[in-house]
Amino acid sequence: MTSPLRLSPGPLPAAVPAADALADPRAGGILTVDLDALAGNWRRLQARLKPGTECGGVVKANGYGLGAVSVAHALYRAGCRTFFVAQLEEGLRVAPTLPADSRVFVLSGPTPGTEPEFSAARLIPVLNSREQIDRWAAHARGHPGDQAAPAAIHVDTGMTRLGLSDAELAALRADPGVLDGIAVRLVMSHLACADEPGHPLNAAQIAAFDAARPAFPGVPGSLANSSGVFLGPATHHDVARPGVALYGVNPTPGRPNPMAAVIRLQARVLQVRHVDAPATVGYGACHRSAAGSRIATVGVGYADGLPRASSGLIMGYVGATPVPLVGRVSMDLVTFDITSVPAETPVRPGDLIDLIGPFNPVDDLAARAGTIGYEILTTLGPRFARHHVGTGWGPAAAAGGGTGGGATERT
Ligand SMILES: *Cc1c(COP(=O)(O)O)cnc(C)c1O
Repeated sequence: MTSPLRLSPGPLPAAVPAADALADPRAGGILTVDLDALAGNWRRLQARLKPGTECGGVVKANGYGLGAVSVAHALYRAGCRTFFVAQLEEGLRVAPTLPADSRVFVLSGPTPGTEPEFSAARLIPVLNSREQIDRWAAHARGHPGDQAAPAAIHVDTGMTRLGLSDAELAALRADPGVLDGIAVRLVMSHLACADEPGHPLNAAQIAAFDAARPAFPGVPGSLANSSGVFLGPATHHDVARPGVALYGVNPTPGRPNPMAAVIRLQARVLQVRHVDAPATVGYGACHRSAAGSRIATVGVGYADGLPRASSGLIMGYVGATPVPLVGRVSMDLVTFDITSVPAETPVRPGDLIDLIGPFNPVDDLAARAGTIGYEILTTLGPRFARHHVGTGWGPAAAAGGGTGGGATERT
C-alpha cells in the first residue's frame, strides 16, 4: 500500500471546516474532527453491507487518534451498537461512557490476571488462542451463578498473528466441552489483503472462514474490516468491523475515495522570514533558499506525528495555494516556502497552514511521506488542540448531550 506513490484520484472531498485562527492561540497545531462526516461515513458503510449485516465501529488507538470517546458517541448516535478496541485500557475508557445497549469487544483478549476487570466492566474479550480460551473458561467457572461469560472467538485464516490455528480449531471441535461456561457471541477472523481486491488470499481466507464457522453453530460471524466491506457480500457475514474508513482514509486505494473527509490538520505560523541572500534552511542545511524567497516556520514537528521522512516531500496549503515543505522536519518545527502566496493575502504569525485539508487529504500526505493513512492518524500527537465539530446525528444529539458541538477531548 505504500508504493508506488498513489495520490487521491477523483473529486475533492467536501471540506472539513477550518479552525478559527484565533482559537487555541497556544497550540502549535489544531486538529478539527468533523463528527457529522464521521457519522455519515458509518451510515455509508452500513448501506453498503448486505441486508441483515450489522456495521460495527473500531475505535482502538484513541479512535485512530481522533479522540475515542467523542468518536464512539458520534458513532452511537449514528446507530452503531458494536464497538471494537484493541486493549483492556481502551475498553475501560470508552465502555462506561456508552449506553447499556452497546457492546465493546477487546480484540487482544485478556492478558493473564485481567479477566475480572473484563467482567466488571462488561467488556467482551476476543479469545485468540486456546490459552486465552482456557483462562476465560476457568474464570467463568470460578464465578458460578454468574451468567455464562460472553466472548468472541478469533480463528486465524491466513494472518498468522492472532487467532486459533487450524490445529487448535480441530482440537476444539473434537472437545467442545472446552467452551463450557463461555457464551460465544461472535466468531471472527481478519483479512490480510483486503485492500488488494485481486489478491488470491482474499478468496482463500473467505473459504477458510466459512469452513471454520460450523464449529460454532448459530454464532454470528465477522470478517470484514474497512476494505473488506468493499470486497462484496461474501465477506460481510453478520457484523462488519470497519475502522480507518470511518475516519476518512480511502479503503479502496488507487480508486476514488468513497468516504468523506473527517479531519483537518492545521499548523500555526510562528514566524515569517524574508530571505535576503541565498541561505540554507534547517538541520543538515539540506535545502537552499534563493534570495527573495519567504519561509514560514510553523509549530508542528515529528514529535506531533509529522513523519521526519516527509522532509522535503509534502505540501502545505495557504488557502488554495500549495506551499512546499522545505528542509528537514524537526521535533517541534517545520518550514514552508511561501514565496508563491499572493502578496494580497500575506501570511502572518498566528495564521494556520493546512497540513491535511481540502487540497491535501490524509492519504496524500501519507503517500508522500512513504506511509499509510492509518499511521498518520494514530500518531497524531497530544499537543494538537483537538476540536470536535458537529454532533454525529442532528436531531438525536439534542436529547443525547455528550460530546460534539465544539467539545475538546483531552487525550
Ligand atoms: C484494526 C482492526 C480492524 C479495523 O481495520 P480497518 O482496516 O481500520 O478497517 C478490524 N479488525 C481487526 C481485528 C483489527 O485489528
